[in-house]
Amino acid sequence: MKKVLAFDIDQTLNVAKTPITDEIADLLIRCLDHFEVAPISGQKFDQFLIQIVNRLRDRGVTNKQLTHLHLFVAQGTQYYKYFPTSDMYDENNWQQVYNYPLTPDQVLKITKTLEQAAQELGYWEADKLAEGDQIIENRLSQVTFSALGQMAGTEAKYAWDPDTEKRKKIVARCKELAPEFDYEIGGTTSINAIVPGMNKVFGMTHLLEELAVQKEEIQYFGDMTQPGGNDYPVVEMGIDTITVHDHHDTAFALRGVLAIAENLETKEAPKAEE
Ligand SMILES: [Mg+2]
Repeated sequence: MKKVLAFDIDQTLNVAKTPITDEIADLLIRCLDHFEVAPISGQKFDQFLIQIVNRLRDRGVTNKQLTHLHLFVAQGTQYYKYFPTSDMYDENNWQQVYNYPLTPDQVLKITKTLEQAAQELGYWEADKLAEGDQIIENRLSQVTFSALGQMAGTEAKYAWDPDTEKRKKIVARCKELAPEFDYEIGGTTSINAIVPGMNKVFGMTHLLEELAVQKEEIQYFGDMTQPGGNDYPVVEMGIDTITVHDHHDTAFALRGVLAIAENLETKEAPKAEE
């Protein structure tokens, strides 16, 4: 049986950039009793708390269950783990186990490249931004372009580039301007720029090491598993992957995975009467 369930977040566990539903939260809590659970995404740590951890707390997750949750932040270039100090939940008990940030020069070069490419192609939508929002965000281990900013509505985001054609053009231009970086399409309006190798392969390789498991013991769920997508590196690594269109597919798959895990446990448990 698999030991680790690893998940992309945006459009795999949630509607992009929003907290997970009660249904997904309840399923993940059940998963924590049987598996190590490892979300891995380009997002920042605070978004992992808002979108996943706080929702699990709303649905009654225990501290003990949280010790089986492993947060692979910024494509797994940062890893956070929960170390309970008492029965009470304390957000400060999330500890960073490792971190591999970009250098300031790399951040600057990527930022300029993304802006220039988007400007040239007419996809620089600065006039549509909410106050205080930004298109390009330094996420420490990667720089992320979000065409309409972080705060744009989900509908507007889905409508902006549903076939990924705009982002493919931006990526092609960035590759000409600064070929030393990799550019991955993710979420609904995003492009993640990274140093080659600092993608989900980096994160998954460290996950194998940190959780002391083999590739075969991981089941991965993602929505961008096609070549060029930000989940594709995981497929290339040879990790078993389930491609989903959205969190409804993930819920469907998890009910199956849990049915098997819980059934096995019942069979293996010693019978009280014997
Ligand atoms: Mg995704």
